Amino acid sequence: MGTIFSQIIDGDIPARIVYENETTIAFLDANPLAPGHTLVIPKEEYERLNDVPDDVATDLYATVHRLVPEVEASVDADASTVAFNNGEAAGQEVPHVHCHIVPRFEGDGGGPIHAVAGDAPDLSDDELDDIAEEIDSRV
Ligand code: AMP
Repeated sequence: MGTIFSQIIDGDIPARIVYENETTIAFLDANPLAPGHTLVIPKEEYERLNDVPDDVATDLYATVHRLVPEVEASVDADASTVAFNNGEAAGQEVPHVHCHIVPRFEGDGGGPIHAVAGDAPDLSDDELDDIAEEIDSRV
């Protein structure tokens, strides 16, 4: 039993599909934050970004890259916020990785991506150096 997005892919529930290729599909969000709010997903179900294999990740980005300007143009947007809620603690509700393309408009009252986290931490230079070294050592 897949998520609701797998049911869309299988045609079991309706969706406003705006683009589809062999490995990815995009459809309008059912509860749009803005006109044109679009979700882009891999057809195979992976829960989080890091679960997606490299080749599918490449396809997913290519679809996002292709759609962003067309979504913006379709609703005459000034910009867009493009983001993943990657994990439950980050607000991911549907455990099938999906990229939100949210068209943005001058004066729409929304915030930047900086507004999504809680209180900003007060990190010293040493702490920042340690974090950067830790990440660098892992990739
Ligand atoms: P997230 O919180 O990142 O997991 O976002 C899940 C998104 O899926 C929400 O913006 C929902 O509005 C959207 N959504 C849930 N069910 C459907 C559906 N059947 N068709 C289109 N979008 C959906």
